[in-house]
Amino acid sequence: MKTKNYSGSIKRKLAKIILSVTSLVFFISYFVFVIIYVKHEDRRTQKLTETIGVVISQDLAKLIFLNNVSVAADITTKLQSFKMLKSAVVYKNNGSAIYQYSKNGKSFTPDGKCKKQGYKIVGETLISSTTIHYSGNNFGCIRMKLQHMTFFNIFKKYLLPLVLFYLFIVLLSSVLASFYAKKFTNPILKLINFLEGVELDAFLDRRIEITEDDEFGKLYEEINIMLESLQNSLKEKEEADKKVEYLREYDSLTGLPNKDLFIKSLQKQIDYKTLKEWHIMLCVDIDKFKVLNDLYGHEIGDTVLQLLARSLQKEFRDVTLIAKIGIDEFLICYRNVSDDKEYAIQKVEDMLNRLNGIVSNSFYVHGEELNIAIHVGANVYSKNLTSASEILQQTDGALQNAKKEEKKFSFYSKEIEKKAQENLDIYNDLLVAVKENQFELFYQLQNRDDGSYFGAEALIRWNHPTLGFLAPFKFIPIVESSNLIFDVGTWVLENACKQLSLWQENSKTKDWVLAVNVSTRQFAQDDFLDIVQRCIKKYDIPHNKLKIEILESLLSNDFETMVQKIQKLRELDIQISIDDFGTGYSSLQYLKYLPVNQIKIDQSFIFGMLENEADKIIVQSIINLGKAFKFDVIAEGVETKEHFEKLKEYGCHYFQGYYFARPEPIEKIEKVVAQL
Ligand code: C2E
Ligand code: MG
Ligand code: MG
Repeated sequence: MKTKNYSGSIKRKLAKIILSVTSLVFFISYFVFVIIYVKHEDRRTQKLTETIGVVISQDLAKLIFLNNVSVAADITTKLQSFKMLKSAVVYKNNGSAIYQYSKNGKSFTPDGKCKKQGYKIVGETLISSTTIHYSGNNFGCIRMKLQHMTFFNIFKKYLLPLVLFYLFIVLLSSVLASFYAKKFTNPILKLINFLEGVELDAFLDRRIEITEDDEFGKLYEEINIMLESLQNSLKEKEEADKKVEYLREYDSLTGLPNKDLFIKSLQKQIDYKTLKEWHIMLCVDIDKFKVLNDLYGHEIGDTVLQLLARSLQKEFRDVTLIAKIGIDEFLICYRNVSDDKEYAIQKVEDMLNRLNGIVSNSFYVHGEELNIAIHVGANVYSKNLTSASEILQQTDGALQNAKKEEKKFSFYSKEIEKKAQENLDIYNDLLVAVKENQFELFYQLQNRDDGSYFGAEALIRWNHPTLGFLAPFKFIPIVESSNLIFDVGTWVLENACKQLSLWQENSKTKDWVLAVNVSTRQFAQDDFLDIVQRCIKKYDIPHNKLKIEILESLLSNDFETMVQKIQKLRELDIQISIDDFGTGYSSLQYLKYLPVNQIKIDQSFIFGMLENEADKIIVQSIINLGKAFKFDVIAEGVETKEHFEKLKEYGCHYFQGYYFARPEPIEKIEKVVAQL
């Protein structure tokens, strides 16, 4: 706020006040002084007439009774000593004037008579009549005219000192004003400075220091109290605003973002950066929540919502956004899932399974055991869809569909829904497969350049009860996207170790190395090293006979931790091979830090190397890299003699492919071994 400029000065005002008060007092006093002075003069003059009467009474007696005219000169001489006496006339008792005196010595005609006693003032003259006594006899009367000081005479007489004194008073007033003004202005300036500071910095927690024990001190105290209450009310307002702001964006019951904030946040993310092609949004609705509310009451209903919200947050810690958008509706948004649509669909299934896991457990609220069911609308959307509201609308459409058709879940796209349903069926079958041990390991033998075998790769197969043997691509992605990978992965490791221990008993296979595929999630698991060691120990096999195949892409997750894990495995003398080399990591920089034994050229390059110059160069380069970094290089997907010859020509010494052997069940491998 702009402040007005104040021109007034307390000093000037105070000077004016002091001056006017002192002037007033001064003039009134002067008037009173003059009046008293006049009165005093009157009395003095009267006294003087009496004195004159007394002084000249003897001479007058001589003059009147003895008719001694010579005393007249004495009387005149005596009267001349009274400077104020203008004239005097002496009357006998019979009223005749026998003597007159005039200050200027001129004779005059007496005017008026001599009254016995009294006086009157006429202008500047006091006329006094005094009886003359001598030796107890009254023998005449003297009428005198004396110089009388009038009010104006006296006023005029002291005017110059008065003016000088007045000027002195003015000077003194201004000195006093500036002295006393400071007593007022200093505390006021202190207050102004303080308030300006508060205004500039907006620090309401500032307080003015109170050193004055007067009204200013009280004023400061009141200002401090006012600031404190202002600060408190501002704090309360701020808190209330925050609460309003919070409630505008969050659900007060669960603390989750509401629909508005969800759309805003999602839109921000879409606009900021979209890294992957496919994204997921799930809309979860509690089935018949109204019935639950009516049956058990709102308090229990609210607690169920809170528990569900907490479970969702715990279970889906890895997802981008969770929100509550209706009374019993939740949103789960998982951004940048994958560039692979198939993988994104599998991820949805994994999420649906995790949701099922949450609701399959009962909620215990105030001693009540409650079970809820949910409907889920699922949406796997591409990055081309850039409107958060539209994505939400589609997902909500899917949810409405699930509710209408009384299904557990429904996808926005029917084609995806069909695929997801198939995968979900596979997932359900896989649950049984793990329990009933429907898996089997096939082995694909690996060769040296002289055709001799030095080991094999263990490749999983699922012996499905109705569909027969299923290749890994049909189920491994589903296993990998769910927690089943940990059980299945351990099963593979254990069975591979078991097979290795059997090979140990045969001199032909004693030196064979068995390669096992380990998925990224499985490798990243905290207890992976323990599991490997446990399996090795259980079957008592030499550590260096087990080879773990990891994908090159694993290194892009958390390079340092992964390298440390590889290092530890190497310290245990376990072999490490990088599978599908050439397809995953963009920089070759990392190779120098990798303590691996083997790299496995991806089969796509082998398939292409005979016709495609680029593939050929890649294959040659990988072989040369291996030589330079002292890794073994194995070629995978060696299907023909031509492949084999060319690879040998390029300097490759190890091979795996249909040209030598297909993945086979152990019985067939045993037959091959028997013929060696
Ligand atoms: P991979 O580890 O790269 O395995 C090599 C795949 O190439 C195997 O397919 C094998 O049968 C196939 N193959 C080998 N030589 C040739 C050839 O000359 N021509 C052609 N066309 N194919 C050849 P498979 O057994 O279907 O396995 C596919 C993938 O499944 C594996 O690729 C591996 O990534 C995964 N997998 C297999 N078993 C396991 C397992 O126990 N655990 C995990 N996590 N993944 C596994
Ligand atoms: Mg492999
Ligand atoms: Mg491979």
